[in-house]
Amino acid sequence: MTKETFKAFLVSQIDNKNYQTNIVEKVVDDLPQGDVLIRVEYSSLNYKDALSAKGNPGVTKKFPHVPGIDAAGRVVISKSAQFQANDSVIVTGFDLGMDTWGGFAEYIRVPAEWVVSLPDGMSLRESMIFGTAGFTAALCIDALQQNNITPDRGEVLVTGATGGVGSIAISILAKLGYAVVAVTGKESQYDYLKFLGASSIISREEVNDNSGKPLLKERWAGVVDTVGGNTLATLIETTKHSGCVTACGLVGGAELITTVYPFILRGVRLIGIDSVQCPIATRSTLWKKLASDWKPSHLERVVTTVNLEELREKVNAILQGKIVGRVLVDLS
Ligand code: NDP
Repeated sequence: MTKETFKAFLVSQIDNKNYQTNIVEKVVDDLPQGDVLIRVEYSSLNYKDALSAKGNPGVTKKFPHVPGIDAAGRVVISKSAQFQANDSVIVTGFDLGMDTWGGFAEYIRVPAEWVVSLPDGMSLRESMIFGTAGFTAALCIDALQQNNITPDRGEVLVTGATGGVGSIAISILAKLGYAVVAVTGKESQYDYLKFLGASSIISREEVNDNSGKPLLKERWAGVVDTVGGNTLATLIETTKHSGCVTACGLVGGAELITTVYPFILRGVRLIGIDSVQCPIATRSTLWKKLASDWKPSHLERVVTTVNLEELREKVNAILQGKIVGRVLVDLS
């Protein structure tokens, strides 16, 4: 049954610079056209949602807008033969929550090509504890494996360790038998990172070289980098011969200033990670892994659950780098 009205976290533009957020009632007809109408049960907060909620034009151009790049729920109406009413499904990425109204609402309507069936072995709630952050961690780890970074090759470094991508990446890597070095700016969270499976923890300063040297002591077999900027440059310069660096984020900066030496003298591979346009076949494969062999046993330790009303405070916190783990939005 479709409710006549539903709750949504709406971002509206007040003037050229200012935006406000309100919890409002919307009707299903307010949603964009699309093949599949979904009753959202869970969403999650990602860094990009916070940018959208603050009016960042690099993420969202049309306001009023409902952010939420992640949604999991049950199909209400489907024009596609691929999905039936009541199917449990996941939608992450594509244009969801960017210029298409997203998961911070009780309903979304999207093209069938954006929808993935919830795999066996995973609940809707678990799928959104992972959300885009967890799926991105999975893409990074898949890239490391495809580049032959096996546990016996040495330590794998994860930056932004207490954040969403970082927390899930550490958990999966540890489960798969890797020795994981976590980089964090939060000294208060060392116990949390150890609990997730980090074998050692280092400070952000240790991966921020300013010597100008093109090559530094070889340390990492693989890297999951969420920070970018000088951190990413330093990591490329400290990766072992034939090692692999996956770059997915930019919380520390979008610039990358380095030289070709790590690539041509050490055969270091730099792999870009994009969860947004990732092909549907890769999505299905990785969601199945997250539902089985890669699922950490301690997912509940990573999550803070909020409702729509409590979300605003978390939006501000994620922009300040203050979130630990994942923020789950419960709309059930
Ligand atoms: P979170 O905010 O949850 O985590 C980011 C973490 O980075 C923080 O918790 C903090 O961890 C660390 N951090 C914050 N500011 C800085 C800084 N200035 N310098 C160094 N470290 C910092 O974000 P997510 O994990 O969800 O996302 C991380 C990044 O990945 C973002 O840039 C996001 O846009 C990107 N991303 C990209 C995707 C893609 O498809 N390519 C998909 C999903 C995310 P600590 O205190 O432990 O150091």
